[in-house]
Amino acid sequence: MSQSLLADALAAGQSIVTPNNRLARDVVARFDAASRAAGKLTWASAQALPWTMWLERLLLAALAARASTGWSLLDASAARELWHTLVVADRRPLLNSRGAARHAADAWTLFHGWRDGDEALTRVASGGGDDARLFAGWADRYRRRLGALHAFDHAQLPDVLATRADPSWTRSLGGFALYGFLRLTPQQQRLVDALRGAGVAIDEVPAARAGSAFRRTSCATSSLEVAQALGFARSRLEADPRASIAIVVVDLAQRRDEVVALAEEILCPDRLLSLASDSPRPYGVSLGEPLASVPLVVSALDLVAMATGTVAATVAASAVRGPFLPDAATRWTERAAVERLWRREARREVAWPDILAALRQSDPALHRRWSALVVPARTARLPREWARAWSDWLVAAGWPGTSALSSAQWQAREAWSNALGKFAALGAVTGTLKPAEALETLRAQLAETLFQPQSPAAPIQILGVLEAAGLSFDHAWLAGFDAQRWPPAPSPNPFLPLGWQRARGVIGAQAETTLSHAQALTVSLAGLAREVVVSHADTIDDAPSSISPLFEHWPRVPVESLPHVERFSAAMMSTALERLIDETGPPIAQGATVRGGAQLFESQSACPFQAFARYRLRAEAWDAFPEGLSAKERGIVLHGMLNAFWDDVRDHATLLGLDAANLATRIAAAVERGKMQLTAARWQTLPPAVASAETRRLAATLGAWVDEGERIRPPFRVRKHEQAVECEVGGIAVRVRIDRIDELGSGGLAVADYKSGRVIGPARWFGERPEGVQLALYAQAVDQLDDQPLRALAYAQLKAGEIAVSGIAEADGLWPGLEVAGSTARVPVASWDDARAKMRDGIGALAREIRDGVAPVAPRSGATCQYCDLKPLCRIRVLDDRGDAEAPDA
Ligand code: SF4
Repeated sequence: MSQSLLADALAAGQSIVTPNNRLARDVVARFDAASRAAGKLTWASAQALPWTMWLERLLLAALAARASTGWSLLDASAARELWHTLVVADRRPLLNSRGAARHAADAWTLFHGWRDGDEALTRVASGGGDDARLFAGWADRYRRRLGALHAFDHAQLPDVLATRADPSWTRSLGGFALYGFLRLTPQQQRLVDALRGAGVAIDEVPAARAGSAFRRTSCATSSLEVAQALGFARSRLEADPRASIAIVVVDLAQRRDEVVALAEEILCPDRLLSLASDSPRPYGVSLGEPLASVPLVVSALDLVAMATGTVAATVAASAVRGPFLPDAATRWTERAAVERLWRREARREVAWPDILAALRQSDPALHRRWSALVVPARTARLPREWARAWSDWLVAAGWPGTSALSSAQWQAREAWSNALGKFAALGAVTGTLKPAEALETLRAQLAETLFQPQSPAAPIQILGVLEAAGLSFDHAWLAGFDAQRWPPAPSPNPFLPLGWQRARGVIGAQAETTLSHAQALTVSLAGLAREVVVSHADTIDDAPSSISPLFEHWPRVPVESLPHVERFSAAMMSTALERLIDETGPPIAQGATVRGGAQLFESQSACPFQAFARYRLRAEAWDAFPEGLSAKERGIVLHGMLNAFWDDVRDHATLLGLDAANLATRIAAAVERGKMQLTAARWQTLPPAVASAETRRLAATLGAWVDEGERIRPPFRVRKHEQAVECEVGGIAVRVRIDRIDELGSGGLAVADYKSGRVIGPARWFGERPEGVQLALYAQAVDQLDDQPLRALAYAQLKAGEIAVSGIAEADGLWPGLEVAGSTARVPVASWDDARAKMRDGIGALAREIRDGVAPVAPRSGATCQYCDLKPLCRIRVLDDRGDAEAPDA
């Protein structure tokens, strides 16, 4: 019925006005298809346009007839910025001034749409609370600023046209048909009435209703529900390549990314395999994404931010290694090294000189190019001046790169240029802006601008509820229509009195209007296609869910009875893969020098794959951004401090001779020397409170160690520290660096290794997979280095508040706190010689494993994996899940 009314209107030459652009395009497409089906070779194209565009056309007609002179329509982005300027100028403690401005602008539009004739906002607000009066104050200033600019905005435009409706400019407009409107607002109705009064023919045509086969079903989860809907669409399209299918997702705005990811997998898996990112897709999505989130625009914004002040190091690193710079395709891996550098230096924020310094090492060519750039002056300027400066800056920086842009990227570039043009026109509203203010304003504008690249019409359309109303397809699936979400909960505007919204019947202000609007939309959705399936998830957030009562009367069918396709990921999982177990790397030649020193042996014992990956494949995770010093940096400073202290004090007798003041002076000097192991720039990156706390902690740790670990010992002299030795173990050569070798007053040597964390006691040195093998290796190295007998091995635990020493000695009294070999059941050795022999055997066996390339994923225990950063490489969790590996016993 309505289809024929629409056809009649088009045949009569009427222009069709629709609630949105999508429906206008659909009207034109349907008219063209009908003309082709009727055998026509040529025909006059249908005129269909959305309501907002119709208003602008009417305004142009009025202006052309001089019916509205001297005043102009304020651009929507300028109106947004004007609201924000006024909200900020109010100096109220708001958490989110942009959000408050957005709500205020919505309230302004809502008020004009639903007010009764000339109803004044101040009178309406007087019946509300504090928020309504606050809004009325902002609105009053907004109205006066519009007056000063001789402008009106889009919210006022229908009233402006209605008051000026006059045959002098309306007579030439022709006839119109309003198509697909569920209900006109009072303001829309006033304009339509005024235009009719001025002689304009305006018909109202309800949207087409196509539905005839209705079913409802459910899926276990929301995600499976969307997957099922996409599978249904694909199978219908495979059965009839000319079919058109709609998938309506009730909360598409919140789930857009998830839905698109599923659509890529289910509707075009071939694109995933071929990595053809720019090839046409069989689906389109009605909702665009914010322009500020489009990668090409993100890159531009980040480059501008880098020229504007300090930025997060991760942001700068992402921009530098991104694809929108010259030669990015071949240079991005080298450029990625800047992030590693900043992580090592724990730099959370970087400025332009830091970026140049990092590039000097990683990409000299880009460094040369960027060194020649002149950063835009950081003075307050008008938006148009910023827009010009930033455009020039981006061109000079080489944005958007030298690779060919895809169609969508070209369109994004155009959208960026347009958005920058609109930003440039904001000067009348904002005045001059400081660099950070200007960038924030541009970001806000881009966040409000939706980007939807144009692409050939796709047979499957993924739509939100409002965009779907009035459209026509062959098949449709409505997803997410559970009782919680449909009808939606009322959401009255917080800035307008609730009583006024109820009295005016504002949609969404109360349960009754929300329900009646949802009922009208439900009827429209039911008419979307010949075949319509509605679905819901059985559980949402672990709570049971049921179908919306508005669809309860539809016949229920099990989801298994509906067409579906096997998901690409499921198909991949079911493919039988051949398993090849390869736990051995290439052997190392006899006598060859291996890298990794003592840590290589510790790793080999802890997990052979860890040793192989770290020291032969050189795999390592990137440093995190620590709040203070990293554990590695603390160790470096600690070693430097202890070396400096013993360089100065040298022996036990001198230590005992120091009075408290003298000792404190020497400790302070050692702390300063230790701190010099890190660069001054590194210390400057720490907050002053953290840096001074580190200094105090170092001094306290050294003082405690001297008192609890050194004074109590019998006489000794520090003979060497940081002694580098290359020793031969089990047929391979290893370079080790021994923290400290002491000459004991009673004769012989003792070896000490400093640890800033917990040490491993000798009870665990002699197991099948020995721990703490570092000292065993040092012992072997000292044997090869020196004729004096080794008589004690000690780990010194220099952990703030937990000073301790742990190890073994040949005899009682050599080093208090060490176990005497053979004297306790805690350490499974019969004597010092037995301990040395077992240590030699232990590291000999590990050396042979290393030489033979033994590298299975076999952690000593779950605790071994806890702090290991190689999980993505060894895939221990995948192996555990499959039950192929021994479960770690964390
Ligand atoms: S995570 Fe565990 S299994 Fe993997 S390499 Fe590290 S220690 Fe070995």
